[in-house]
Amino acid sequence: MWPRIRHRLPGIHLTVGENLGKNLTQAGIEPAPKRNFRPAGKRLNRLSYAGGQHNTVRSLIAASIRQNASYEVYEEIGCVSSDGSTRRANIIIIDRQKDKGVILDPTIRFEMHEQQPQEVCREKQVIYEPCCQHLGAQYHITHWTVFGLMFGARGTIPRSTSFKIAMALRLGCKLCQPHQCICVGIADIYGYHALSCARSKGRIPRHTSLNDIIKRSLTSCGIPSLLEPPGISRADGKRPDGLTLIPWSRGKSLIWDSTCVDTLAPSHLPNTSRRAASAAELAVKKKVNKYAHLLDNYIFVPFAVETFGPWSHDAKVLVSQIGQILISITGDRRCTTYLRQRLSIAIQLGNAMSVLGTLPESSPLDELFLL
Ligand SMILES: [Zn+2]
Repeated sequence: MWPRIRHRLPGIHLTVGENLGKNLTQAGIEPAPKRNFRPAGKRLNRLSYAGGQHNTVRSLIAASIRQNASYEVYEEIGCVSSDGSTRRANIIIIDRQKDKGVILDPTIRFEMHEQQPQEVCREKQVIYEPCCQHLGAQYHITHWTVFGLMFGARGTIPRSTSFKIAMALRLGCKLCQPHQCICVGIADIYGYHALSCARSKGRIPRHTSLNDIIKRSLTSCGIPSLLEPPGISRADGKRPDGLTLIPWSRGKSLIWDSTCVDTLAPSHLPNTSRRAASAAELAVKKKVNKYAHLLDNYIFVPFAVETFGPWSHDAKVLVSQIGQILISITGDRRCTTYLRQRLSIAIQLGNAMSVLGTLPESSPLDELFLL
């Protein structure tokens, strides 16, 4: 399973077990918000609600992986540890051709610090690796890997469809049947065409969301700013995305311009397959050239990110700087993490809108509900 993911997601390091949870969380792939999972009725206690969240996430992941017929996927499998104690593995994925098995244990935790996903992964490995011998005998598989997959409890992907698309893109699963896109090109089964389509429906909402989040985070820092400020134009006559109305550093205001480029676009693939974030860094260079004549009077930050998660160095630095100010104001050391997650989710939602935008439209059977 994992070599295939590496093939489809160059530069994202998904093959390293400890990074899997971290990458997914940083990429904004998180469960739907509490309101979507909250069971009806006030009598249900917090425990049952947490269990409902976990079961939904588990079944969504399992359903995504089952789309690939070459894997056997089992849920909630009882197993015996080497010390004789019994365990229950959340998801078991088996690739018989390669004689490999994976124990995948999704866990929803309230985010505490950046290293938490790696800690959760190690925690799960300690629990489930002693069970591999028993599972190996049960399923006749020799090689086993354990992944503990942490999901932030503050996830804000509102629709299960968006969540499924985010998961499928990340895992390289099939998303849809091949069909004609609105650009007249062919939308592929993995949804990759949608991300770099010239008429992508997610591009503008994603761009707007990124700028809105940056502006609002600056406002939380006590720094007023304007989007699309009049009176400032770059070499080609277009305006930057945002401007702080008071100095950001060295007596100069900050101007930023955000962009989200596709990691797997055919033009970027030769670079992104060799080095993570190379498409974002290339976008940074282009932006800097466009803003060259404004660099004397303003601090310019090209906020370049990629559809599959990598961020440019400048984008990371800006978010860290804003996060530090927020921490100094609120005292909450998780501010930077929350901001990163918010931006990551905006990217994932934009990806989902792009994929859904390629599908042909059809009128619903609303009259059925009006009878
Ligand atoms: Zn298209």
